[in-house]
Amino acid sequence: ILHVENLTKTYRSGGRDLTVLHGVNFTLEPGDTFSIVGPSGSGKTTLLGLCAGLDRASSGSVYLNDIRLDTLSEDQRAAVRNEHVGFIFQNFQLLPTLTALENVMVPLELRGERGAQKAAQALLDRVGLGQRGHHYPTQLSGGEQQRVSLARAFANRPKLLFADEPTGNLDADTSDTVVDLLFELNREAGTTLVLVTHDLELAARTQRVIRIRGGAVVSDSGQPVSTPAPTVLPD
Ligand code: ATP
Repeated sequence: ILHVENLTKTYRSGGRDLTVLHGVNFTLEPGDTFSIVGPSGSGKTTLLGLCAGLDRASSGSVYLNDIRLDTLSEDQRAAVRNEHVGFIFQNFQLLPTLTALENVMVPLELRGERGAQKAAQALLDRVGLGQRGHHYPTQLSGGEQQRVSLARAFANRPKLLFADEPTGNLDADTSDTVVDLLFELNREAGTTLVLVTHDLELAARTQRVIRIRGGAVVSDSGQPVSTPAPTVLPD
């Protein structure tokens, strides 16, 4: 469902090139749960953004459901995202002009489902925000907005869900709720989860963990990383 091949990303800023991803490879099957861990600045969010089609790689390729993203225009990538992908991102999520309830209703209405309002309300109840449906995103805390995104993802039942630090700004109880809901979505809808996290307990709950450092994969629980064989010195 997601295939990443030799992916690199170079940002140009202040007249200088900065390569933040160096040849990343992995393949995920439908229903997999996957986390990307690594130090701050190692390229995790950049990698997630490329996989989700939010940005374009400098070289290499990303196939999402067999669609090659890196050759598509921004509009084409947006169409693929709308069809296949859900997001729980800190700064890329809810429609600011709609209330929490309306945000969750959007995917249901787009699918032409009847009773969208009732279903959206039930989803908000499930993430503990049943009383906040009439609030606009700016009237909600970061963690609450994240939970609304999660309710929207439940409404959307995407094939893939990308979450950047889904527990990053949540207290322990809320964090447990959000994590349980993520895995519930995976079990119920078969949604493939791709998480970026500093939370190693959360990472340990996913089937596969890759660790990146300085933009390169240094370990992959799913497969050995091809590094030169260690030199064995004679005694
Ligand atoms: P954190 O855990 O702190 O969120 P991260 O591993 O997600 O970090 P990224 O956000 O992917 O790291 O950033 C990787 C590197 O790329 C950083 O050095 C960052 O400064 C740089 N970077 C990210 N976005 C841009 C951009 N738009 N232009 C220039 N440099 C960028």
